[in-house]
Amino acid sequence: MTTPPPLAPPASWYRDSIAVELGDCPPLEGEVRANVCVVGGGITGCSAALHLAERGYSVVLLEAGEIGHGASGRSGGQILPGLGTDITTVEKALGRERARDIWEMSREAVRLTAELVERHAIPCELAWGYLHAAVKQRHVRELEAFRERMARDYGYPALTMLQGEALREHVVTDAYPAALHDAEGGHLHPLNYTLGLARAARHAGVAIHERSAAVEVRHGQPASVITASGRVTADFVVLGTNAYQAGLMPELSGRIMRAANYMIATEPLSAERAARVLPRNDALSDANFVLDYYRLSADRRLIYGGEVSYDGREPRGLEARMDAKIARIFPVLKGVRIDYRWGGDVAITLDRAPDFGRLGRNVYYAQGYSGHGMALSGLAGKLLAEAIAGQSERFDVFAAMPHRHFPGGRAMRKPLLVLATNFYKLRDRL
Ligand SMILES: Cc1cc2nc3c(=O)[nH]c(=O)nc-3n(C[C@H](O)[C@H](O)[C@H](O)COP(=O)(O)OP(=O)(O)OC[C@H]3O[C@@H](n4cnc5c(N)ncnc54)[C@H](O)[C@@H]3O)c2cc1C
Repeated sequence: MTTPPPLAPPASWYRDSIAVELGDCPPLEGEVRANVCVVGGGITGCSAALHLAERGYSVVLLEAGEIGHGASGRSGGQILPGLGTDITTVEKALGRERARDIWEMSREAVRLTAELVERHAIPCELAWGYLHAAVKQRHVRELEAFRERMARDYGYPALTMLQGEALREHVVTDAYPAALHDAEGGHLHPLNYTLGLARAARHAGVAIHERSAAVEVRHGQPASVITASGRVTADFVVLGTNAYQAGLMPELSGRIMRAANYMIATEPLSAERAARVLPRNDALSDANFVLDYYRLSADRRLIYGGEVSYDGREPRGLEARMDAKIARIFPVLKGVRIDYRWGGDVAITLDRAPDFGRLGRNVYYAQGYSGHGMALSGLAGKLLAEAIAGQSERFDVFAAMPHRHFPGGRAMRKPLLVLATNFYKLRDRL
């Protein structure tokens, strides 16, 4: 048995701009039989449930809080190809050919996001264009080398290096010496997207139960998933609990580190002011290891993320720090009002590659997107459904990625990661 995660979602601009009506999803009561029990109502879980139901499986989805309670309902909303780790990490582990498969699937993940938005008419402000911005000259060289390499070895055509006036047409600041524009990247309202997937899953026949934390998964054929007031007996279990699993499966939690990330939303900007920030409505993240990222919402708020914490406590002076960064990058925004701030947890793996796999024969999981899961978690759901249906080739390409537990056991995991992150923060300053 384990402690359920906290139920109350934080107030956020996302919560205050919900545009998808999901309807009532009452807590699970009593005993239920299903083909598949999905645990977790983020993008991984909702996409898995949707794709399984579309294949004809009976599916029960259990969510500890409300749909989108975790990272999916709080994130920066940037929809990007690639992984949370460099493609070199994948090449080293699996070879160039497999790395190419994974890269292509990460592109498919972005296309799938757009398809799902369109097919299910999800009102989530999907927009295209992404900038990966150099903060220093070292980054300019690294980004240019990356562009060349992706064109040469991966046939990736979407990257363009922007500098000077060409860059200012996309982001009006002197803060970046250059940026790599990725025409395949984009952004959306993450909570509405997640709720839209849940709504589509429901229409496809999935029984969704909110406020229904799984407190135990009993292996077996069938397996059982136990909540405080019910039990689902299922042929398969899918765990899409990511950073929020709170010890449900210790086999999984040892492979990820939970780290909090913070976001703010400013007041809505006038059209004229927004055009002096991100005139083409791109999303942007900087090239620092501990990165800042931002985009405009449809009502022209600057949604700005950055700052990490490993003990779950909000860093001191967070809002003032964000405010100062925004004013430095965009002097035109000096004194802009910050209307919202919130945090959410990401699951980081040791090498920042996502962690997909099985526990026993019929419990599947996908986790550890390491801050880069908005698009990939949607594809993970589809791959989980393929694997359960007996077509596991594509899922297994990801599952072949070797993952180690964090060194030092539970006690030393955080101090070691803090140490490593501080090293990279220092490097970011050089
Ligand atoms: C602040 C922030 C900004 C981010 N920005 C970006 C970005 O711009 N681009 C990008 O690609 N990625 C970003 N990410 C990462 C991205 O949001 C995640 O990788 C992705 O949403 C993971 O989805 P998920 O469904 O796997 O996990 P989650 O969305 O975290 O969902 C897990 C769900 O499982 C539920 N759960 C956990 N335990 C149980 C249980 N025992 N029983 C029932 N339910 C349970 C939780 O309540 C939660 O709803 C960001 C993350 C954060 C926190």
